Amino acid sequence: MGCTAETTAAAIRAAADAIAVNRAELTSLDRAIGDGDHGDNLARGFAAVITKLDAEVPATPGAVLKLVATTLISTVGGASGPLFGTAFLRAAAAAGEAAELDAATVAAALGAARDGVVSRGKAEPADKTMVDALTPAVDAAEAAARNGGDVAAVLAAAAEAAEGGAVATTPLQARKGRASYLGARSIGHVDPGSRSSAYLLRAFAAAAAG
Ligand code: ADP
Ligand code: MG
Repeated sequence: MGCTAETTAAAIRAAADAIAVNRAELTSLDRAIGDGDHGDNLARGFAAVITKLDAEVPATPGAVLKLVATTLISTVGGASGPLFGTAFLRAAAAAGEAAELDAATVAAALGAARDGVVSRGKAEPADKTMVDALTPAVDAAEAAARNGGDVAAVLAAAAEAAEGGAVATTPLQARKGRASYLGARSIGHVDPGSRSSAYLLRAFAAAAAG
């Protein structure tokens, strides 16, 4: 089955739940190498998204993604608000006006989201940012779509790769964002934004699997 406005909204609700459940962990990861607000930032943003979805679910997957984008941009703040906002905005543009997204379009939307984060934040691979979770996720999603996987399979592949990418940030030294101020002391910790990215993708995958 493809991805409709209703299933997209359900995936966003699952993501909001995952952020709420893991809020303290995300904030404590950010306390180690940042300013200790990442979980709180995202929880505030996704709570605002849910309030809007409770009022009305937009008509298409693209419109749902755009609502998420504008809400995160206006409520999250910090580095991650504009970055995740841009990600959802680019995903919305890739989804266009379609009423239903197929697996290839979902993979393309993930790719567009990652490209948006890179163009906004200028992080390169191995700079220890959310890009290090998103890039393997995009590669895995595109491979799954090419191999005939459905939307659930594409998102499951993306989630697994993102989880690996997040763990793989541990030995890296941060070269972007607040964590870069710590220099070598940023080594030995998981990047919070890569972990939250993996939680979002895992929640989307679980929602798509039903
Ligand atoms: P802030 O650093 O402003 O407090 P958050 O704590 O919400 O914002 O988010 C921190 C996360 O943002 C980092 O863990 C990292 O993944 C991500 N991040 C920071 N700067 C960049 C960047 N230039 N490109 C990509 N991701 C970034
Ligand atoms: Mg922070």
